[in-house]
Formats: sequence, C-alpha cells, structure tokens
Amino acid sequence: MPEGHTIHRLARDQRRDLVGAPLGASSAQERFVGGAARLDGQVLRRVEPWGKHLFQWYESGDVLHVHLGLIGKWQRRPSPPPLAVGEMRLRLEGPERTWDLSGPMVCRIVTPDDRDAVVARLGPDPLRPDADPDRMWSRLQRSDKPVGILLMEQDVVAGIGNVYRSELLNIVGIDPRRAGRAVTRDEFDALWAETVRQLRLGVRRNKIVTMSPAELGRPISRLARGAGRYAYKQEACGRCGTPLDVFPLAGRRTWACRACQPR
Ligand SMILES: [Zn+2]
Repeated sequence: MPEGHTIHRLARDQRRDLVGAPLGASSAQERFVGGAARLDGQVLRRVEPWGKHLFQWYESGDVLHVHLGLIGKWQRRPSPPPLAVGEMRLRLEGPERTWDLSGPMVCRIVTPDDRDAVVARLGPDPLRPDADPDRMWSRLQRSDKPVGILLMEQDVVAGIGNVYRSELLNIVGIDPRRAGRAVTRDEFDALWAETVRQLRLGVRRNKIVTMSPAELGRPISRLARGAGRYAYKQEACGRCGTPLDVFPLAGRRTWACRACQPR
C-alpha cells in the first residue's frame, strides 16, 4: 500500500498537470460512468492530500475522494491518451497530461462536509503545514498499545505504513513493542521531527530511501530495490550492524535492532 509520501507526490504532480483548465472526465467502468460524467468539463481548483487520502476540489463544490488501498494506482500519460481499457475507473484528461485511476479502494464524489467527516477521523498528517503533533502525542500518552501498532493507526497519525514504521522507530531508537504511554516527550519530539523529515525526503526521492547520501555511497537511481533502508526487510541494522529481530505487530512483520532500540 502506498504510504503518505506517495499521495503528496501525486497531489503535487496532479496540481501541475490538471489544476486550472476544464478536464475531460470519463470511466471505462459502469459503476463510475455517472460520477465521471458529473466531473466532465469542470475545472479542478485544488488537490489536497491527507495521509493516504486524496481530495480533488472542483469548481462546482464537488469533491472527488480517492483512497488507493492495496492495489489502486494512478498513471500519468501524455494527452491525448490511448483508448481507455476495462479496469480504468476514472480518466482525467488535461491539456498536456492525462491521469488514469485503476483499482482504488475508494473513488467517490462527496460534499465538502463529507470530506470534513473523513479527515475528522484521521490523525495529523506530518506532511501538511497545518499538522498538530500534540494530537498524536495525546493519543500516545493515553494508550497501552505498542507504539509500533499506534504508528500504523490512521486516526493516530495519517500516512505512515509498514516501511516507515520500521525505519522511523529504528532511527529514533524506540522498541516498537514499547507502550505508547511509555514514550517520553523528548522521544516523541524526535520521532515527530524525523517523521516529517523522512516523509519530505520520500516525496522528493519518490521512494522510501531513508539513508543519507553519505551512507548510500551511490546515486539513488543505482540502488537495488529495497536498499538504502536501516531496518525494513534488512538482515542487519543499518546503523550498527547487529542482526535484526523480526516479529509481527498489527498483523505485519516489523524489524527492530536490540542494540539501537532497547526494550
Ligand atoms: Zn542497531
């Protein structure tokens, strides 16, 4: 599943390609033909990411709400695009570029109130300038759940998935099994700052590579797939070389270093 940096990157690119001109909207799937017809010819005003959710605001007040889920994806093509194929839920054709959406978990047209109701259930998104870290802090402080589970709960903090969870906790030195309420304010401040820094890096690099250029030793374009990470799916800790422990948490495997992340 894409993590938050992917959605912010998509929003940035869609802003450049689609905002400001009337769009051609269509669907190759019966279930969204009506929705696409409603958007067809409208001007897109802005594109707003929040965690793993994307909202496109149209001139009429319609808001397109998209969540990619596990298999959904957006594809960007030059305009005019080739003939649409069957799995395409929505095509948005701009003057220069066309965006095709396939396989989303959520694709629906909602009102601004509906959008507010969705984001009311989400925690702060560290990539948004209006993010309030104290909301995440208060959730951690009230919880006996392991911090490695809390980081994956979208109503605690929006946009972190399994890769960033392992990386962030390794970098700041917190065992993922530690209770949320046992995280100190200093540790939390370090965790939040590193989360913001890493997600921004993810937007810029367009992939999850958490190591610094000096540690990488080669250009990102020449890294093997999955390389450039400290913990996620690694044999040994990228910070100290200790073999990593692997265990399930929130139904997904996580990696932790017993030297850097003492229990
Ligand atoms: Zn280590």
